[in-house]
Parts: sequence; structure tokens; C-alpha cells
Amino acid sequence: MNSFICTTCGTQYPPSEAPPAACPVCEDPRQYVNPSGQSWITPQALAQGHANSFRLLAPEFFSIATTPGFAIGQRALLIRRAGGNFLWDCLSLLDPATEALVRALGGLAGIAISHPHYYSAMVDWARAFGCPIHLHDADRQWVMRPDPAIRFWGSEALAVAPGLTLIRCGGHFAGGTVLHWAEGAGGKGALLSGDILQVLPDRSHVSFMRSFPNYWPISASAVRRIQAALADVPFDAIYGAFAGREIATGGRTALAASITRYCAAITGDGSAELF
Ligand SMILES: [Zn+2]
Repeated sequence: MNSFICTTCGTQYPPSEAPPAACPVCEDPRQYVNPSGQSWITPQALAQGHANSFRLLAPEFFSIATTPGFAIGQRALLIRRAGGNFLWDCLSLLDPATEALVRALGGLAGIAISHPHYYSAMVDWARAFGCPIHLHDADRQWVMRPDPAIRFWGSEALAVAPGLTLIRCGGHFAGGTVLHWAEGAGGKGALLSGDILQVLPDRSHVSFMRSFPNYWPISASAVRRIQAALADVPFDAIYGAFAGREIATGGRTALAASITRYCAAITGDGSAELF
């Protein structure tokens, strides 16, 4: 029995003798099926050809990413804190080295994930560290490997620990979530945004998509809902889903400017540069 992993989206499925017939996450129009055909890998084979790298982004704040890149290629972010470490987003690879290193950092007290494309091998991680996984109930249908560790929440915000609050933004997925870390950015507050707010290469803007690979934008009204969800949240930094994608300071101004230009573009007015 193997808990097969889709090589295109990185989603892990329940243990089975043979690979699943299809990957519903990739068949969803926000993703895509591998043009060469649906393909799978076992956790053991993934670990043979890949490893996880750790980077310290700020004191007690690590990014963890799989190298060489696998599937969508997101990073996970680990906040090390006295009340128990917290993992934001997740990876398909949990190899013995990663498990040993995270355990040496104090293990995990909880996991939360921005949206279904990063559910990955969340159940392996939760079982290894004996912690819950917090997922928004609006995306329940996208859980491909159910497990008692998964706790669905259905409100607009959820305090998962002192100073750590999940905020539902929607957009990319109905349950699209960001994590507010009050002590982040030197106490000015940080948003860990996955790709609900996609931090752009200029490191001073974010953007929004229903589908990133298929360039399928969300509506202006959906972006205004994200703006409203974050209106009263104090933050200075925004940490996105990929290596180097962070806005170190001025995040609130960057978000406001990004929303203004996005909505101008999507509605076709408000800027002479647009046609
Ligand atoms: Zn897939």
C-alpha cells in the first residue's frame, strides 16, 4: 500500500495498492492534468530524488521548500514560538531529515493551509507531529485524504493560537485563507498569504487569480471582499507562497495599491495606461 502523490499538483491520496484513477484537484479548471498523462509518485520515490531546504527568513521564522522543485513548488513557513510551533502551508515531502529537524526545533502544535493546492502531504505531517490541521470548511470537498487530524472551521476568522489568526479571504478558492501573525515583522504584524495574495517578483505588489496556471482572474468584487476582510488587520510584511516572494515592509500600502490597479484593469477604467 502506498499513499500516492500526484506529480502535477502534489496532492497525496489515501493508501492504496494501485494509484488512483484520476486526480480531481488537477481535473478542476483551476489546475490542469499533466499533458503527458496523469502521473503519480510514492513518498519513498519522492524522498529518493528530493530533499527539503530550510531558510531563516527572520528570527524564529523558517521557510521550508522541496529541492529540486516538485509539483507546484510552494514553500511552507514555520513559526517557532513558545506556545508551540505553527506550520503555514505544507509540502508533499516529509522525509526523515525534515522530520528530525522540525522535531529538533520543537515539533509542531498546529498546521493551517491557505487553499487545497497546498494540502499536499498534510496528513503525514500532522501524524508525524501529533498536531491538528485547520482547513476552511468551504473547501471541504477538496480534501482527498480525510483524517481525524483535520479540523474544519467555518467562520470568517479563527484564532488558532495567541497572536495567530486565520482570516478567510476567498478569491482563488471559496475558503482561501491567510494567516495573520501579530508578532511578525518585528511586532508590526505579518500576513502569510499563500497565493490568496500572490506576492509578485517586484516585491512591492500582489495579485489575485482564480487560476494562476490558466491566467483566469477573479472579479473586482471578489478582490473588494479580500480588501474588506483585511481592512482592520495590522501588518507590515507579506510572505507569499514562493521563495523570495515577500514584501518586507509597507505591506499595507502595497496591498492597497495592488487592489487599486487590479480593479482598474479588470473593470476597464480608472487609468489612462489601460485600453
Ligand atoms: Zn493533481
